[in-house]
Order: sequence, then structure tokens, then C-alpha cells
Amino acid sequence: MLSSEALAKLKRIKHLALDMDGTIYKGTTLFPFTKRFLEGLTAIGVGYTFLTNNSSRSVSEYAEKLAKLGLKTSTESIFTSALATLKYLEKIHPASKRVMILGTEGLKQEFRDAGYEVVPDEPGYEPELVIVGFDTTLNYAKLTVASYWIDQGKPYIATHPDNICPTDEKLVLVDCGAVCAAIEAATGKTPEAVPGKPNALMLEGLMAEHGLEKHELGMVGDRLYTDIAMAYDCGSVGILVLTGEATLEDVDDSPFKPDAVFPSVKELGEQLALARGNSN
Ligand SMILES: [Mg+2]
Repeated sequence: MLSSEALAKLKRIKHLALDMDGTIYKGTTLFPFTKRFLEGLTAIGVGYTFLTNNSSRSVSEYAEKLAKLGLKTSTESIFTSALATLKYLEKIHPASKRVMILGTEGLKQEFRDAGYEVVPDEPGYEPELVIVGFDTTLNYAKLTVASYWIDQGKPYIATHPDNICPTDEKLVLVDCGAVCAAIEAATGKTPEAVPGKPNALMLEGLMAEHGLEKHELGMVGDRLYTDIAMAYDCGSVGILVLTGEATLEDVDDSPFKPDAVFPSVKELGEQLALARGNSN
């Protein structure tokens, strides 16, 4: 049962930020109700954006991944930690456009498209900023050059804090946070900012992109300590679904209380449609 306070909050939502794994699909399988949920949002005039911390893929590469799962989506509907990082840089380092990137070609292209000069990750090219992403092309030479400039005091921003990227393969996918830990061990330096989840900068970037007030944005996810914590920090509406990690029992133990809990996005969609209907 939803409280009248929760219903009032749901009624004011104009846009949903959707976590992906555990929220709209599990692993490589789309939930059977996801498509209808998204169509329902469009029908009642609620926008949505898929959120991901994974900065190894560009938004167009992510759109391809979603298409393979059977979801046709535009690149404007995807917001990654790379885009949150770009929003952060626009605000905090507007004059710095020369970057060294420890990241994939997809991440570098995202920066070039936003007007940045990406310097080669080899000795002799001085950047103004160093960006560390989920670099699935990482090698020792690149790590030593980026660490040098970080050690020299260049502002250093990591796209997201994850130490590993989940996988079904017999591999540990060493992610951005773990690479930052290596850099810290070598240089003593930590990132100036980490704009990905659960940093509120991720949602603030999205709100800036869509001109939203915080109470107009609902953050939907399956993890209390990332998805709901971020909504909490940002002042937007935190909506937990139970199709992934968190259970109802976890809610009791968590310092981050969701504004509403639903078995899945299916019931969330039905509730939003009802709330809209009642407001007319
Ligand atoms: Mg999730």
C-alpha cells in the first residue's frame, strides 16, 4: 500500500531515470513487461532515460545493445557516467578542453563529439585534465602516462566508482574504481570527482539535460545503496523495484528509504497511470 505522501510524489513525476540491470532486464534477458511499461509511460506523457555507469560504451553503442535485447531506443534516451562527467566538466572546468583519457575508443569519441581534444595516451602530450573510465583496452604503457600527469597535479576525474563490472564469464572485469585504486597506490592522488552512480551529479546532469526540477524526476532501481541513495542525495523521488538485488527486508535495514516500493516496473507503470488519471 502506498501512503498518500508517496502518491502525491508519484503524481508530480514528469520523467523517470531507469537503472537497467535488475530493473528493466536481468543479464541478457528483457523482462516480459518492460516494453509495455515504456509504451505506457509515453502514453501518459512521462519521459524516461536509461542510466548506466558503464563508460566503456558510447550512447550509440548502448542503443545497439538495447536493440539486441529487443528495445528500440534513441541515443537521447541513454545517459551514461561519461555524459555525467561531461556535464561536470562544463560546469567546473569550462576552459579546459585538452584531455587524456584512460578509456575505450567509444569514450574518447564521446569526448571528441563534445568538442574536446583527446591527446594521445603516450609520453610527451600534456593534457589539462585526465579522465579515467572503464578501460577495457587498458595496458601498462597507458597507465604509466596517465599516472604521470595525475602525479603532476592535473585535475583527475573518474567516470564512476565501480571496482568490477558484473559478468557471467569466468573473468573478473576490473573496472574504473579498481584502476583508480592502482593510481592512488602509485601517486597518492584520488579523483577530484566521480560523477557516476551513486553520485547525485549523475541525476543533476540528467535534470540539466531535460530541464527538470528534482521533484519531477523519479529514480527507479533495484539497489538501495546506489539507486535509492542517489535519489535521496539529489532530492528526487526514489522508487525501488524488487526484480533485482534488494528485498523488502533490506529496506528495513537501509539508511536510504525509498519513497515507494513496487514488485516490478509493471506495477509502477500502472500506479503512475492511475495517479495521472486521478489528477485530470
Ligand atoms: Mg541495477
